[in-house]
Amino acid sequence: MTSEANTPVLRNCIRLPLAEDELLEVTAKAKDYAIMHGAAMRSKTAFSPDSLNFAPFVLVPSSFPRKEFEKAVALQPIINRLMHNVAHDEEFITTTLAETIKVDEFTANLFNIYRKVLAHGFTQAYSIGLLRSDYMAHVYEDCAIKQVEINTVASSFAGIATQLVPQQKFVLSELGHADKLKNMPQNNALAGLCDGMVKAWDIYARPNAVILFIIEDVSYNICDQRFHEFYIRETYPHIKVLRRTLSDVHREGKLGQNKELLLGQQEVAVIYFRAGYEPGHYHSQAEWDARYLMETSLAIKCPSIHYHLAGTKKVQQALAQPAVLERFINDPEEIKAVGKIFTGLYSLDDNEAGNASYEMALKTPEKFVLKPQREGGGNNVYGVDIPDALKRMSRVERSAWILMDLIHPPLTKGYMVRPGAEMPPQIVDMVSELGIFGVVIGDADNIVHNYQAGHMLRTKLSTANEGGVAAGLGALDSPYLIDSDDEEEQ
Ligand code: ADP
Ligand code: MG
Repeated sequence: MTSEANTPVLRNCIRLPLAEDELLEVTAKAKDYAIMHGAAMRSKTAFSPDSLNFAPFVLVPSSFPRKEFEKAVALQPIINRLMHNVAHDEEFITTTLAETIKVDEFTANLFNIYRKVLAHGFTQAYSIGLLRSDYMAHVYEDCAIKQVEINTVASSFAGIATQLVPQQKFVLSELGHADKLKNMPQNNALAGLCDGMVKAWDIYARPNAVILFIIEDVSYNICDQRFHEFYIRETYPHIKVLRRTLSDVHREGKLGQNKELLLGQQEVAVIYFRAGYEPGHYHSQAEWDARYLMETSLAIKCPSIHYHLAGTKKVQQALAQPAVLERFINDPEEIKAVGKIFTGLYSLDDNEAGNASYEMALKTPEKFVLKPQREGGGNNVYGVDIPDALKRMSRVERSAWILMDLIHPPLTKGYMVRPGAEMPPQIVDMVSELGIFGVVIGDADNIVHNYQAGHMLRTKLSTANEGGVAAGLGALDSPYLIDSDDEEEQ
């Protein structure tokens, strides 16, 4: 994605560049602050379970339009309810994914679990969603936020994002700008999500039952996960968290008399999936069997299989079609507000509409991004690469993908700090993606908890298609809220 020359640049929080000696000093402090406060990760290139690198970060918080931030926060409970209702609409999920599962094996495997669970009836009526709705401001619509995607599984970075606000406040204060701290919104994402898990644990109502985190074989994003675990133990000393891979669960897990999930002697109240969202997490049938075992158990899943499917890109695309929201939201004002955050999303199914989107993508590929049913970054195809990718697919294969209008975010300028990179960092052009966390708990008939739970900001080089933080081009950040009528501050 090359940024166009005339893309607007948001006003910076402070005047840049910094003098070199000041920049060197404050960057070194910020790196240590990050490591000491756990804004850190395991190194992929020099992995050791005994050490951490700071997670890539943006030195000074990036600007984000206040009005749009507040809009995203206010929308979250509505989005929570929407996703909860979608997850419980068997007919909608089944028809929406019908073509996709014919060609996408991973989604088909998830769907098969769903089908089997439906056939036997849900053992556990309650689900917990720890969601993250991701947005970019779109310069062609006065920087109105547009939804990039909604995550219903392994919504990450609540832990580190919570640490990053005090870190960037520290940096601003060091630079003599303590007066600006008021424009950095408080962030209680970690507490918000963990308290949600504990509310689910309360619903399960067995004092000795544990919370199980399903993890990858190697967790690079270990601090973010440990923040959740440690917060739960520190805030609720009577609750234990266990960490297990899907393979571990296959080996150790079984169902008790009432279909409770047992790991050895330990009963599991809540399962929090930080893995299981990509094919690579399932090494063999054993891991799929483990997933099915958990789904059929009495434990409350985050996410349950229907929530997982509700978060697919295909479902997101279906939700953005005219009149579909009315099926899930009653209030016309809410329908209007949610409708406005959708950008164009197009089916590539093998039918008239899908073939029209295919032609449109071939004609003006630079306007689009092509997405498969995958999570975790690095799977999309952008702009000029789209025609070749599409032409390699058969008509039916295309239905595993969706097409989406590219969002054009405004630029910010700042210093991106990465472990091992040259010092001092250079000023670069960047764009940001805001994530708003939400918690929703309920069954098919009722929602018992529904709230917005903090935020995170990920910022990447403006020239990068994607900004995976661990992958190399993205960095953690927090929003610095600006008003359109602010005085020029520099
Ligand atoms: P994933 O599930 O892999 O995170 P996303 O839909 O979030 O998939 O896409 C990954 C990244 O690609 C986003 O974080 C964003 O940087 C970029 N991206 C995705 N959709 C768009 C879009 N419509 N416009 C601009 N950038 C996008
Ligand atoms: Mg994403």
